Amino acid sequence: MLRALSEMENACALHRSAFASREDSVQVRQNQKAIRHLDLTDVQLASSETARGINRNIVLELIRANQPLSRADISRRSGLQRSTVSQIVEQLIRENWVREGAVASLARGRHPTLLGLNEDLMVIAVDIHPRQATVAMVDLNGRLLSRSVVPLTSNPAASTRLITDCVQRMRIDFQGKSIEGVGVSLPGRFDPTTQRMIFAPNLHWSDFDLRGTIESETGLSVSMENAATACLLAELLFGRLNGVRDAVLVTVSEGIGAGVFANGQVITGHHGMAGEFGHVSLDPAGILCACGRKGCWETVASCEAARRYYHELQPNTGTITFHELLNKAEEGDQSAVQALAKQAHQIGRGLGPIISGLSPRVILVAGDITSAWHRFGPVIEEEAKALSLAGEAPQILPTHDGDIARLRGAAALVFQRRFVREPSQTVEQSANRSKSRKRII
Ligand SMILES: [Zn+2]
Repeated sequence: MLRALSEMENACALHRSAFASREDSVQVRQNQKAIRHLDLTDVQLASSETARGINRNIVLELIRANQPLSRADISRRSGLQRSTVSQIVEQLIRENWVREGAVASLARGRHPTLLGLNEDLMVIAVDIHPRQATVAMVDLNGRLLSRSVVPLTSNPAASTRLITDCVQRMRIDFQGKSIEGVGVSLPGRFDPTTQRMIFAPNLHWSDFDLRGTIESETGLSVSMENAATACLLAELLFGRLNGVRDAVLVTVSEGIGAGVFANGQVITGHHGMAGEFGHVSLDPAGILCACGRKGCWETVASCEAARRYYHELQPNTGTITFHELLNKAEEGDQSAVQALAKQAHQIGRGLGPIISGLSPRVILVAGDITSAWHRFGPVIEEEAKALSLAGEAPQILPTHDGDIARLRGAAALVFQRRFVREPSQTVEQSANRSKSRKRII
């Protein structure tokens, strides 16, 4: 899965390079330094094409984080020669990533043209859940400009038609903008080798060519990734993983998924299947899971499990959504409080294999439960402490913008295809230091 890993590294690179709101940029730049590995031997042997890609990445990152700024500013901040910067900027303008804007007035009569990201460059992000999908228009700065929710059924062809209709409506709404492609976050796993959805037990779309169908219906290229991994990627950029090299992000919704960041790398595993902790069985005699096994973590800790716990306590009530359950608990309904407490305990219990197997420094939790973190947080933290074998227990943090992070992650999957690899320094700087052959962290 070297290829998959490489793709995910590039996805991280994209996040850091071209896909943050300006407000988040400082955090992003700190994260970049914290997690980047660059072997100088690789740099020394890199082809000129790779070197151009690295320098181009640096220029794009500087523009994104500091826009608007001049070519001279880029040269000064990057250490790249003025001529190199000019060549790269011209290429980025030709490719529509960057635009020239205002003219600055400086002392001594100089008037450099300022550069910024092309805000007309868009990606359509699709976040798929078992019963609905969110479709959003996202710009190169990570801003959501439009968002629609479409219902999904167990019929993949009909559901995908609803998604593609929504995509086409958005394209009409944003006529004149340049759409780079469609990024999709999935409630399951996507095999990067076969380019097919390989495992999505809650979606019930067996062996359906989702990617090929969206591409043929819209004419746009499509990139896909598991929702937890997409969410993790977004957290690497926008979140609080500054300096953290070992983290796991757990999504809790209709099912449970996990994205794994270990030793500074996003882990995808063979067939892209790494992180399916939701299907680790905690009770071999438990209830049947959608995957066909019994007592999986998600059968006792998902939002569906919480709804089931409530119905066990209140069998005469009708169907209740998870949001309604949260509201009832806030209103003092003791059955709702108990159901959510049981879910929280089970979420914490299922962290055992993650803590023992991966020893993350941080475990991020995403999903609707984070809106009631005062109920979930302390219980999960207590379990994590009890399950830690030695050393400091992992820090448990909620991600308060779960859906937005997933949409941003989905969009990043498209933008990242243009990038080569992310440097921690410029090629010119690397070449100067390469004789030492030290590994840069
Ligand atoms: Zn299962």
